[in-house]
Parts: sequence; structure tokens; C-alpha cells
Amino acid sequence: MERVYNFSAGPAAMPEVVLAKAQKEMLCYGDAGMSVMEMSHRSKAFVEICSEAEALIRSLMNIPANYKVLFLQGGASSQFSMVPLNLFKTGKADYVKTGSFAKKATQEAQRYGKVNVVASSEDKEYSYIPEMDKSKFDKDADYFHFTINNTVEGTHFNTLPDTGSVPLVTDMSSSILSQVYDVSKFGLIYAGAQKNLGPAGVTLVIIRDDLIGHAMDITPLMFNYKTHADKGSMYNTPPTYSIYIAKLMFEWLKNLGGVPAIEKINKKKSSLLYNFLDQSKVFKGTAAVKDRSMTNVTFVTGDKELDEKFVKEAAAEGLTNLKGHRSVGGMRVSIYNAVPLEAVTKLVDFMKRFEINNKK
Ligand SMILES: *Cc1c(COP(=O)(O)O)cnc(C)c1O
Repeated sequence: MERVYNFSAGPAAMPEVVLAKAQKEMLCYGDAGMSVMEMSHRSKAFVEICSEAEALIRSLMNIPANYKVLFLQGGASSQFSMVPLNLFKTGKADYVKTGSFAKKATQEAQRYGKVNVVASSEDKEYSYIPEMDKSKFDKDADYFHFTINNTVEGTHFNTLPDTGSVPLVTDMSSSILSQVYDVSKFGLIYAGAQKNLGPAGVTLVIIRDDLIGHAMDITPLMFNYKTHADKGSMYNTPPTYSIYIAKLMFEWLKNLGGVPAIEKINKKKSSLLYNFLDQSKVFKGTAAVKDRSMTNVTFVTGDKELDEKFVKEAAAEGLTNLKGHRSVGGMRVSIYNAVPLEAVTKLVDFMKRFEINNKK
């Protein structure tokens, strides 16, 4: 069986060289005489892997010294609770609702404090990023939460909300490391790894020092950022193997030229697809043009049966996981860092053929 072109939204494709390296090191890592999976998280070999992973992500994202990097568990979904539990001081926060994950984050925060929804695109199935009316922002909010890339709907914030001194908190699960972001503009960034960082099981949190240490009294110890920050993500057993694979992904990206280099490739990949969609007579992009995501491209034919036919025939050609999220239907092409330009070229060629054979 040959490897397919995998356009999954997550867990997602990984670079073949990373998988091959992991395979080579599977039974014996270095001179440890055992697999990384079998190592104590306190062992010298693993502590080195973990600190190298941290150093790599710090350099790839240019993370300033006054930020902590945490490797946690529980997925991005746990951050929907950890953020309010740790950041509420006055108990007020601003939220933007731009997608199904943003909605979940908003609902979870409402359990712990007063949430002010400053903008929403729910009226049009989250197909756009709403205009921000700054007069609606609460100057006394403890933080301002938004989902920078909406994985399900295929939209991206191309400008950051201007919140003054209110810390920006963002869910970057599906666009982290895909383009250059200025970390110093944020108070807290979180991302589940299984889209663009590595395998499932580890969640990356980048948090400014001053936001640590103010958790609500009810916060479970394991949900307190301070617990993990004080112990360098080693308070308890971290997801060791996932961190190791993430480290290999970081090395791969560094060797490729880092984030600016991959951003160029990602732009090429998404432009190829969007340019085709814009002139297609069968396929239509669903996200507002100005807010299009580079990593998740969503489109429909306008006919459910034809959508299904497309997904099925594409899979038969080795172009897999093109079905849209169950909540929105249609198609979604996730083209994270590990998906090569060649995969998108092959996909567009197939779409052209499908179009000729299925003229309306
Ligand atoms: C995938 C995703 C999540 C959910 O992540 P889990 O790790 O499954 O909890 C949350 N937010 C965004 C933007 C995502 O893409």
C-alpha cells in the first residue's frame, strides 16, 4: 500500500522524513538502549529532548524571554476552561464568536465569569470574520479571546483586534507555525498539536509571565498554569512521545528555513487552490474572500450528492480526507505544513478533470 495525499484537518499529515526518523529511532534512541516511549520523563535523555523542543519552538516563533512555553495535555478544548480559570481576576472577558470552536470557548468561559461577546459571525454560518467595533470592547476586561484560524469554517483573522492593554488570548491550533506571528502582541497562545505541530496528545501553551499565578481558588491543581510553569512542564508525566515527535517536526521546519520559508510555500499552496475555485463553474469557496484561511480551504458544489461523489472519487485517486466537517458539510482541504505543494497540484488537476466530467 502506498501513502496517500492526506488532507485531514487533524490529526493531520506529518512529513515523511519525520516518520522515517522516528521509525529509525523507535527501538533504540541514541545510546539510551531503549525507545523514547520507554524512558522516564526524568531521564537525562528525555529532559534533553524536552528542552531542545522548547528551544526550537522558541527560536521558530521568536518567543520573547518573558513568556513561558508549556507542554500540556487535554487538547485545545481543555484550554477553553484553563484560560478563564487562570485569567479571570475581575471575572470579565471579551470574546469573539467566529466558529464552532470559538463558540465552545465562549460557552465554557461563561461558566466562570461574565463574557461579553463583542462580535459574532454566527448569522452567516461563521463564513466571515466580523468587523470589530472598538467601542464594544471592555477596557476593564481581564482578557480578550479569539480564534485566529477557524478550522471548520476556513477563515482567518488577517488583522489582530486592537485591545490596548487588555491581553489578547488566541486559539492558534490550526495555524500555528504556518505563517509568521508576532508573539509579543499576545498574552497567551494555545494550540493542540495534532494539526501543525506534531501528533495528538500534547497541547502547546505560550503564556506571558505576568498572567501566571492568579488562578481562581476553585482551579484544579492540574489546570493551573503555575503548576506546570514552576516545574518546566514536568509536574507530572508529560506526553513524552508526542513531545519527542513534535521536536522532530520543529527540526524539520528549522532545516526548511523556518516559518518565513514555510509561509511562502503555504501561500503558494492556498493560492493555487483559491485561484482555481474563483474561476470554477462547479466548485465555490465558502469563506469570505478577505478572510480566507491559508491552512483550511472550504468549498461546496452546491449539490450534496455531487459533493459526496467528489469526495469518493478523489479518495479513489489517493486524495483523502476531503469531506467537510460534519457540522457544515461540503469539502475542506487542510494544507498544513507537512502537506507538500505537489499534493495540492494533484488535487487541483483532479478537480479540473472532475469539473469537465460533471458540467452542470
Ligand atoms: C482542533 C481544534 C480544537 C480542538 O482541539 P482538541 O485538541 O481536539 O481539543 C480547538 N480549536 C481549534 C481552532 C481547533 O482547530
